Amino acid sequence: MTIYERIAEELDKLEAQSNLRRLPHLTHQEKHVVVNGRKMINLSSNDYLGLAADRSLREEFLQQLTVDEFMPTSSSSRLLTGNFTIYDRLEEELANRFGTEAALVFNCGYHANNGILPAVCTSQTVILADKLVHASLIDGIRLSNATCVRYRHNDLTQLQRLIEKHHAQCDQLIVVTESVFSMDGDRADLRALVALKRQYPKVMLYVDEAHAFGLYGPTGLGCAEEESCIADIDFLVGTFGKAAASAGAYLVCNRLLRQWLINKMRPFIFTTALPPLQMAWTLFILRRLPAMGQRRLHLQQLSASLRDALRQRGMECPSESHIIPLMIGPSSEAILRADALQRHGFYLLPVRPPTVPEGTSRIRISLTAALTQEELQQLIKAIDE
Ligand code: PMP
Repeated sequence: MTIYERIAEELDKLEAQSNLRRLPHLTHQEKHVVVNGRKMINLSSNDYLGLAADRSLREEFLQQLTVDEFMPTSSSSRLLTGNFTIYDRLEEELANRFGTEAALVFNCGYHANNGILPAVCTSQTVILADKLVHASLIDGIRLSNATCVRYRHNDLTQLQRLIEKHHAQCDQLIVVTESVFSMDGDRADLRALVALKRQYPKVMLYVDEAHAFGLYGPTGLGCAEEESCIADIDFLVGTFGKAAASAGAYLVCNRLLRQWLINKMRPFIFTTALPPLQMAWTLFILRRLPAMGQRRLHLQQLSASLRDALRQRGMECPSESHIIPLMIGPSSEAILRADALQRHGFYLLPVRPPTVPEGTSRIRISLTAALTQEELQQLIKAIDE
């Protein structure tokens, strides 16, 4: 069988299982999207604070932009000539804000998660990863030489048992988790993880704050800031493409680790650095995040209202955040439900395997601070129908 014959057959199978994906054609109008002529509120993006939908921010940024700063390419990797001063300024600002020795910026969260673990692990490292960590982390783990064991989602009792089992025989043990989980919207207990780490000298913590950066903590640095444990997390990663309305990702860490990654991390070394223009926008947003408490509060209030409404209706709701899945089960049913909600004016999409485990297809509601309480009430009505 040729490659083309095989993949044609596989695509037919995906279609039959209602798991075939297609790229949607859509246009954006602030917090709305227009798809097939239908204008809907976008509840499927990661623009959690509504900053990407906010024209006034872009206008303000453009007003202060000079031609020299409007640099749409870095033309090189950072190790050659791509290390524009804006990179140093952004990393200094991140390290200052997090109170860490250093920070390192990457082209995206996928690169960060794909590259950090392979760069630091040896065959004597054991990785213990939560069962629901993101694909970018799984791929990074696969690329590393470490032994990996997955623990049941948020099950710290099982995690401790695994630490006990592996602690003596390895050089180092890295516990890998997200802070807010991307699909269930629930949270890891960071304080409990830190307490566990303190009991075992070889344990390090890797926490991905992709869905928490900008949203939690007094100045929006994430759950680690909220839980006052930034200094206890060895690899604290976050992304700029979600609440921060930009692109790229960061690691805040010590100087030693930064120096090592610059030398050894392949997705850092072998890629053209993000455009300086993008970094200038990221810095512009980063400086405004502390003052966005009102948006964070509004998002939390919306989230609490929706979670309460679902629970009152007896629906399963694992969420503890602004990511709120409507658990459905079969993919075909999730597609029908999403279609119905779209007809009510809410752009919601089915999330199906392989993004989520078989039989757990769902509609992932990504709430945004751009939504009003009235619009949320309309959404709840639409869910009822
Ligand atoms: N980590 C998590 C938990 C994610 O959900 C994602 C993307 N959705 C990433 C990392 C990847 O980040 P990026 O989109 O910047 O590549």
